[in-house]
Amino acid sequence: MSPPEPEPEPEPVPVPEPDSDSDSVIDDHARALATLLAGRRAVALVGAGLSTESGIPDYRGAGRAPRTPITHREFLHSAAARARYWARSVIGWPAVARAQPNAGHLALAALERLGAVTAVITQNVDGLHHAAGSARVVELHGSLWRVRCLGCGAIERRDALQARLAALNPTLAPVAATSIAPDGDADVEAARLAAFRVADCAACGGLLKPDVVFFGDNVPRPIVDESYALVDGAEALVVLGSSLTVWSGYRFVRRAAERGQPVAIVNLGPTRGDPLAALRVEAPLGALLPRVYSCLTNTPLADSR
Ligand SMILES: [Zn+2]
Repeated sequence: MSPPEPEPEPEPVPVPEPDSDSDSVIDDHARALATLLAGRRAVALVGAGLSTESGIPDYRGAGRAPRTPITHREFLHSAAARARYWARSVIGWPAVARAQPNAGHLALAALERLGAVTAVITQNVDGLHHAAGSARVVELHGSLWRVRCLGCGAIERRDALQARLAALNPTLAPVAATSIAPDGDADVEAARLAAFRVADCAACGGLLKPDVVFFGDNVPRPIVDESYALVDGAEALVVLGSSLTVWSGYRFVRRAAERGQPVAIVNLGPTRGDPLAALRVEAPLGALLPRVYSCLTNTPLADSR
């Protein structure tokens, strides 16, 4: 029995090149943002959306199930929660440590060298702004690259702690992570957690905490004051990849708007700051920001793609 004659293929309908539409839309967005930035010194307020293209996922971005991160209170008061955090962190850290700045980070650093952006206030804890060459960076929520002793205040590099944790827990390291979160936290099977050994401060034996602001904790006052001063000294605020859900970032949008500065918001999905925005853009930052640079300079940004 011979197979049935195949249906004739329908004539192909001409379709635009896959990216041509979105490319021209992104060009339009880039021109609009460049127009707002031209002749103004701007501060960039950055959220997780800038790092997703570097493989660091977003807690609240479009299409992601909400995930419950550890809270400050849990970390301080529960030895089991700390063991769980560090066990997951040992597994998740290499992926964070390996992450590279993307075209968006590099363009933002270039915009700073150009003088269009005076400073970066970031909610990200991945260190990618520094890796990209941004000079003036305020890390609102701290950095995963540092660990702080809650006893004596000593700072240890996260890399160094990784070696100590791996030595204390030789059987944990080979376990594959099932998911990585922005705080370097990964899911680990429960049985392994029970046996996990936490490392203490090498200087005083005190409790070690990643030098990041967990949910439920406050951004340190000096960091807030420094950020307000940067916003007050600028002429525009541009939000990059944040839904502005948490007050720690949203307050600077409020401040800029109160001072009459134009606020531009680039984010995939609505944000809490949208009613205050002079310009609202939905575009992938790795594609948009190099074009903003090009619009401002009439020069393509080298190394951007
Ligand atoms: Zn200590």
